[in-house]
Amino acid sequence: MRLARRSFAMALAGLPFARLSPARAQAQAAAPILLDNVRYFDGRAMTGPARLLMAGGTIRILGAGTAPDAAQRVDLSGRYVIPAMIAAHSHIGHASDATSGRQYYTRENVEAQLRRYQAFGIGAAASLGLNAPLFHELRAESRAGRLPGALLLGAGPGLGMPEGAPPAGPMNLADDQVIRPANPAAMRQGVNDLADKGIDLVKVWIDGLGDTVPQMTPEMARAAVEAAHARRLKVAAHIHDLSQARLAVEAGVDILAHGIRDKEIDDGLLALMRDRGTWYIPTIQIDEAEYIYADDPAITEDPFLRAALGPGMIGRMRDPAWRAAQLGRAAPRRSDVRINKLNLKRVHDAGIPVAFGTDSGGTPLRVQGFAEHRELELMVEAGLTPAQALGIATARSAELLGLADRGSVRDGLRADLVVLEADPLADIRNTRRIARVYGAGREVAGAIT
Ligand SMILES: [Zn+2]
Repeated sequence: MRLARRSFAMALAGLPFARLSPARAQAQAAAPILLDNVRYFDGRAMTGPARLLMAGGTIRILGAGTAPDAAQRVDLSGRYVIPAMIAAHSHIGHASDATSGRQYYTRENVEAQLRRYQAFGIGAAASLGLNAPLFHELRAESRAGRLPGALLLGAGPGLGMPEGAPPAGPMNLADDQVIRPANPAAMRQGVNDLADKGIDLVKVWIDGLGDTVPQMTPEMARAAVEAAHARRLKVAAHIHDLSQARLAVEAGVDILAHGIRDKEIDDGLLALMRDRGTWYIPTIQIDEAEYIYADDPAITEDPFLRAALGPGMIGRMRDPAWRAAQLGRAAPRRSDVRINKLNLKRVHDAGIPVAFGTDSGGTPLRVQGFAEHRELELMVEAGLTPAQALGIATARSAELLGLADRGSVRDGLRADLVVLEADPLADIRNTRRIARVYGAGREVAGAIT
C-alpha cells in the first residue's frame, strides 16, 4: 500500500508515518484539523453535513460558528466518514505472510500488524488468544499510546483443555501460547494469573473439533467464568456447534466468539442468550477464507486484497495444486458459511447483541485487514442492513470491549476516523474505498491502492 496523498504534517516531518517517534506523533496529534462538509456515520446512521474539529486527539462537532484560526481545513464534500472499526476477534503476532508459529510473536511483527489494521480502517483489535508473554508488555504500551497502529487488546494466551483445542501440532503452537489447566482449581488459578498480568477478557476453547480432541467440560467452563467474573472480566468462548454454544451459555460465558455452524439455532438457546445478555461474534469469514481464494484466483489481482498479502500468500493462491486441494475439502466450509449466515440473522432479529470479528491472523488465510471488510459484506448477505453491519463493527464492538472513548463520532471521543470516497450505506463494499485514516486526529494512512 502507499500513501495516496502526503499530508501537510507528514511533509513537515519529512518521514513516512511509519517512522515517526511517539513524541513527534503526539505533537502532530496536538495540531488541530477542521474537517468541513462532513457526512459521517455515528454508529447508527449517516448524518451531517457537519464540521468536525480534531484537536488534542479528540473530536468536537462544531456549530455554525467559526473554527480556531490555527486549524488546517480539509474539505470533505462528497466524502463520508466512519469511526475506525473495532475487531473483537483477531489474532495478532501469530502469522506472517504464508506461515504461522510462535517465532512470529515479536514486537516487530505485532507492530506491523497493528499498523496494517489501522491502515485498513480498524482502530482497535482484540487478540483473542495464542499470545506469547510479550503480549502483556505490548498491551500496556499500546494503552499508554506508545505503540503505533491500532489499539492492542486481548486475552493473553487463553485457556483450553489438555490435549484439546486449539490443537498444538496442526497450529504450530508453543506451550506459552495456550494455558491447559488439568482441573477446575487450576483453571481458576490460570484466569487469576492472567488477570494479574493484564488482559481485557478471558478466552476459552470449548470445541472438541468433531470429537477428535477433548471438549471443555461444563465444570471447567464454569470455573473459568467464576474466576473471570470475580476479576470483572468477560469470558469469550471458541465454539463451532450448537451443543457447544449451549454448554458455554449455560456455564455463564459472556461471548460466543464464533457463529454456530452445524445447525440452526433453536428458540430455547435464543431465549437464554437474550435473558443472559450473551454477545455473539459470527466470524463468517473464518470458513470462507478456506475456499474464497481458491474459487477465484483472479482475486489476487484486487489491489485492496494485494495490499494485505505478502508474496508467499500471493504465490500460494495462484498455485493450481494448492487451489485444487483447498477446493477438494471446501464443501463443509461452504455449509458452515451458509448456516452461520442464517444464524446471524436469527440472533440479530432476536435482539441479542452482536459484535464484530473474523478470526483474522489466526492462520495465514485469515487475512488481516481484508477479512474485516469481507465480513461486513457477508453480514449484509446474511440479511443485515449496511448500517446494522457497520454499527456492529463500530459502536457495538466498542461497547462489548468497554471502549467508552471510541466507536462513534461524538464530542469528546477519540478522533479515530476513516474517510471514504463513497457512501458505505449505499453499498457496504464502499468501506474499501479508503481515502485517508486518522488516528487520534493525526493522519496515519492514505488510500489503499
Ligand atoms: Zn480465534
